[in-house]
Formats: sequence, structure tokens, C-alpha cells
Amino acid sequence: MLEVADALAEVLKHTRPLKSKITTLTPAALGQVLAVDIPADLDSPPFPKSLRDGYAVRSTDCASPNAELKIIETVPAGKVATKSLGMGEAIRIFTGAPIPDGADAIVMQEHTQVLGDIVRITDAVVKPRQYVFAQGTEMKAGTTVLKAGTVLNPVALGVLASVGQTAVPAYPLPRVGIVVTGDELVDAPQVPKFGQIRNSNGPMLTALAAHGGGLPRYFGIARDDRTATRSLISEGIASSDVLLIAGGVSVGDHDLVPGVLQDLGITVHFRQVRMKPGKPLLFGTAPTGTLIFGLPGNPASSFVGFALFVRPAIQILGGHDPAAPRTIRLPVAEGMAESNDRPTYRPAKLEIGETGWNVRPLPWSGAPDLLGLQPADALLVLPAGDTRVDRGTIMEVVLL
Ligand code: AMP
Ligand code: MG
Repeated sequence: MLEVADALAEVLKHTRPLKSKITTLTPAALGQVLAVDIPADLDSPPFPKSLRDGYAVRSTDCASPNAELKIIETVPAGKVATKSLGMGEAIRIFTGAPIPDGADAIVMQEHTQVLGDIVRITDAVVKPRQYVFAQGTEMKAGTTVLKAGTVLNPVALGVLASVGQTAVPAYPLPRVGIVVTGDELVDAPQVPKFGQIRNSNGPMLTALAAHGGGLPRYFGIARDDRTATRSLISEGIASSDVLLIAGGVSVGDHDLVPGVLQDLGITVHFRQVRMKPGKPLLFGTAPTGTLIFGLPGNPASSFVGFALFVRPAIQILGGHDPAAPRTIRLPVAEGMAESNDRPTYRPAKLEIGETGWNVRPLPWSGAPDLLGLQPADALLVLPAGDTRVDRGTIMEVVLL
């Protein structure tokens, strides 16, 4: 049985980023990771531009109070001045217009009075370059604007448009297949007969895969029959970068997954992890490279296994930083005393307190309790053995 950290290291050892592809820059690209550095094709701004509606002036003309300048032209954004500015002259200008030749400052219109074609400057001091956004301030042509590894967020899409890009090499979202197993399972619309339960793992894991940065595909329920289980799993392996199999991974007579994986030539790297919930957790790799996770059938165990092992793998396949921290440390919102035979991942909620963030364990009745887990946005890590801590003690937390 592996420790959590060793099991994660084993997963990451077999996890490499997928081959990048040209991705069209639509909202569907959000969350994908850029695979190459992207340079600016132009300076931005491409010309010195006005940051205010007002008057382009020579700052030296405005040295004495209430200087009066002759307005010789008007330049809105999108137009270019046809004249250059001489001594004692001003050009009416609007935000975004290029600074006319000869001008070195903008006086905002709130600091002026207009008397026919004369503008009086009431600004006490006009500094050279005031309200001028110099050419190339934001970016210079040829320099990298976004580095490989950047996660495409809405601002990145704006930046890429500003450098003329409509499609870029990015890591595709990993294809995540989901198979659930069990003769006792019925789908949501059905009313379970005595001995049956509803299949919550299928919808939850499908949603987790999407939430964790994957492209989910749900393959349905494999009944506890070797042939049926094998055919659904092999179908899943063939079209997934990651296959999640929920249930049937433990050691019972009806836990068929390990035997089926053996039939299919899967290399199994581990079958158990020293943690609670979720000890029966299998990780294997197919000859095709597909990563295979056998998650426990109990929904909360499946969830914790996903959070600790599957999500990091999906992220790395998708080109995210493999060195991203996986836990943070936060004070607990209340004291606690309990004993655990294994390191325990307790559903918890982050709270903002007077001195910053805290983490509060939620009431939870264990591995089958999905409802108790639902409000959680964190897992509080409790070491094996006796944990007796006071309120405010700093503990390790996995952010969900
Ligand atoms: P197993 O890992 O197959 O032994 O299942 C462990 C427990 O989880 C059993 O009580 C199962 O009924 C339950 N379980 C298995 N699969 C699911 C599922 N898809 N949805 C909800 N509960 C499940
Ligand atoms: Mg089962």
C-alpha cells in the first residue's frame, strides 16, 4: 500500500502533456494552455496616443499661468493630424488619437476654457509627456507577450487578438472516459428496487472530469459480469486519454476490474493507497498510453481519489504546470480531537474570518455520504493517529 505522496509521484511519472494542436481562439478555448511563446507583431500602442479628451500642446508654451494657445485643428481617434504644432498653438484632440508632431503633452479639457479659436490653459502645471501613452509602452514588436504555459483566460484572448492571432498552438483538453460498475446500480430516472441504488458516480465523475480540465465522455454502467465489463472498459481505453472506472476495484468476488485490466494487458502500478476515504484505488497504464484509474464505488471515496490523483493527471496532460502546489496551509476554524488509522481527507469549507481565511470541517458520515461532501470547497488533511488541535492551528488543506 502506497502513501498518498508516493502514489501521486507514481501517477505523475506516467503523465506527460498531450501533443499540442492549433486551437481557434473562441470561448471554447478557455482553460486550454498555450504551447508556444507568442510574440507581438506590432508595438502597442503602435503610435504615441492621447489618454484624454483635451488639447495637444507644447508643455513649454504652458509655463506661465493661463497661457492662451491658438486651436489649429481637431483630431478624433482614428484620424491623424495634418499639421504640426508650432509655438503658441494647440490641437483639439480626443482619447486614442495619435499625438500630433510638435506636441509633447495633453491638457485635459476640464483644465481649459475655450474662447472662439483660442484655448486658455487653466492647468497649474503642464508636465512634458502628461497623458501621452508612448509608443510600445504596453508591448514592443518582436517581444514575447504570452509565454508557453499560459492558461487561456478571457484577458489572454484579448491580448492574442491585439497581436493579430486567431488560432494558436495549445494543448488539447484530455479526453476523459467514465465507466461505472455494479449490478446494484440504476440510473436517476428509475426508482431503485430493494437492494438497488441510484448511480451517482456516473454524473458526478463526468462533471468532475469537465471541471478538472478534461473533455468527458460517459460510457455507462458495466454490470458485474466479466465480458460486459471488459467490452466497456476496452471501448473506453480506445478513445480516452484517461479512463475512470468507478467501483469493482477492491478485493471482493464481484470486484472484476483488476482481472479485466489484466486480460486487457494493462500494467497496474498500484492498487491501494494509505488514505481515508478511498483506500482501494488502482492506477494503471494501457499500451496505448491511456491512464487508467480504478476509483472506489463509494461516491465520496471516488471524489477524493479524483481530487488527489486524477485531477493533477488531467491538468498535466492538458499542459498545466506540473509543479503547481497541490495543498496550502490554513488555520482551522474550530478545535478538534479524533483518531484515524490512515491519513484522512475530511470535507471542509473555507471561511473568511477576522484575520483571514480559515478552514472548517463539515459534518460528514463517511465514504458513502455524498450529501455531506456537497458544500465542501476543501479537504482538510488529518494525519494518521491522534489529532488534537486547537482553533487556529495551521493544517494542510487540498483546495477543490
Ligand atoms: P464497490 O467499490 O463496487 O465495492 O462499491 C462500493 C460501494 O459503492 C457499494 O455500496 C456500491 O453500491 C456503491 N457504489 C458503487 N458504484 C456506485 C455508483 N456509480 N453510484 C453510487 N454508489 C455506487
Ligand atoms: Mg461493485
